[in-house]
Amino acid sequence: MLTVLRPVDEGEKPASRWTSLHQGLKDAIIGRRLMPGTKLPEDELAAIYSVSRTVVRAALQALSHERLVRLEPNRGAFVAHPSKKEALDVFQARALIESEVAAIAAMRAKPEDIALLRQHLEREHEALHAGRDSEAIILSARFHVGLAEIADQSALINIVRDLVSHSSLIITLYWSRRETTCHTHAHNELVDAIEAHRASEASELMKSHLADLLAGLDLSLGDKKPNKLSDILR
Ligand SMILES: [Zn+2]
Ligand SMILES: [Zn+2]
Repeated sequence: MLTVLRPVDEGEKPASRWTSLHQGLKDAIIGRRLMPGTKLPEDELAAIYSVSRTVVRAALQALSHERLVRLEPNRGAFVAHPSKKEALDVFQARALIESEVAAIAAMRAKPEDIALLRQHLEREHEALHAGRDSEAIILSARFHVGLAEIADQSALINIVRDLVSHSSLIITLYWSRRETTCHTHAHNELVDAIEAHRASEASELMKSHLADLLAGLDLSLGDKKPNKLSDILR
């Protein structure tokens, strides 16, 4: 069942105390004002945002579930800092698994699946060119999970979901060729091959798409020196 591509309800806005802290940190991480590895001291955050440490902890917990923040026992919270090896490993696993997923999807796709994919790609493309980066990254991640749903392999769906969410973080942190990369065009080619049931072409397109995605990342950013929190969050 292709469920992941249904539009999300944008009305859901938690009004809790930590929202502005949570959103502020998230924007700073995704906008890369806070570099990977930056320490996030609870007391400084509490002072900068005039909230209690309990509120700070709740926000950091939520960000750690989203894999944007790493919580280390006795050391505190840090902006996540996936290594170059971790990034390469994730993309290698994606190429292995998702090329197969694309081939199976090409054999199984029904016309209604193709229609949903095309609608989804329009939204994704719009977000990308409007500069709504985090939304574009989320939507392209959903495209990949959507293909696994079309392939209808329950174990693979979970594996792809996990790999894709892990690599979304890596893409968020290390994406560099923003202007030259538009993966919606690669996604369109994939959908064309899937619609025409050309399984081996779909598989090859997926492999080269993931290779392009990886080539567009600046993994040396992971070696940059983390900057100081108080200089950034004002
Ligand atoms: Zn993609
Ligand atoms: Zn484009």
